Amino acid sequence: MAEQWIYLNGEYVSKENAKISVYDHGFLYGDGIFEGIRIYGGNIFRCKEHLDRLYDSAKSIMLDIPLTREEMQGALVGTIRKNGLRDGYIRLVVSRGPGNLGLDPLRCPAAYVVIIVEQLSIYPEDAYRDGLRSVSVSPRRNLPDALNPKIKSLNYLNNVLVKIQSNQAGVGEAIMLNAQGYVAEGSSDNIFVVKRGVVYTPPCYIGALEGITRGAIMELCERLGYKLKEEPFTLHDVYAADEVFFTGTAAEVIAVREVDGRAIGEGRAGPVTTRLLAEFRKLVTVDGVKVYE
Ligand code: PMP
Repeated sequence: MAEQWIYLNGEYVSKENAKISVYDHGFLYGDGIFEGIRIYGGNIFRCKEHLDRLYDSAKSIMLDIPLTREEMQGALVGTIRKNGLRDGYIRLVVSRGPGNLGLDPLRCPAAYVVIIVEQLSIYPEDAYRDGLRSVSVSPRRNLPDALNPKIKSLNYLNNVLVKIQSNQAGVGEAIMLNAQGYVAEGSSDNIFVVKRGVVYTPPCYIGALEGITRGAIMELCERLGYKLKEEPFTLHDVYAADEVFFTGTAAEVIAVREVDGRAIGEGRAGPVTTRLLAEFRKLVTVDGVKVYE
């Protein structure tokens, strides 16, 4: 395999040499933010939206990103070109950078910016047709007034606890509720349900990331003439749904065929999910920033 180059604070270094300080507050405290972005046929899908979310998260946690948006986009394009990638996954991380052992971010003079691009191994194609099994799990979504799930922070322990439970249940993705028992999202995906032709997704104030894929699917619903409702719902509504699907950069649009032992709809990807996935896959190669032109 060709050498993999990592962007590390303005330089390209080989994967083996891409090392950062153990005093980095991203490492010590989860103090930082990140984005997961896809590149499809040389197109950075919804690059602007990802950068908007990154800079919004940075503002929220008062983290100075040492690059303008234009420079950051240039760094993404440069790293992809350097690695000769046309299809894959981009991980963009901005951490608070090295400080002392105390919490204080004022002791961290320079943020770290890291860009890693890689091939992506996602669900096999038959999973998109057959759907995933899923379960609801006990960890509740972080409260918006504690650590707002809209901030895509490096503090993913809430999500990791969910992943541990979904591993124990032997399922691909789990359903997290908020403190009031409303459905919030998956460990790293947003959730949608379809009932009598209407598409529902929880509003982000419930405790969900404002997913870029979620946004694209909401726009597609409008364009395709599906009625879309952004409103809170419960596990009962999930069990009784005609279709359930998760959305995320890595997962794209993936059907759920079973939740907590209840078959969903026909027990495979339903017509609305299938259509949205097909339309989504048309969008991803055209909507974004072209790397090789
Ligand atoms: N929720 C969480 C907690 C996530 O980590 C992700 C993945 N970034 C998503 C939802 C889906 O967001 P997106 O479509 O932007 O990847």
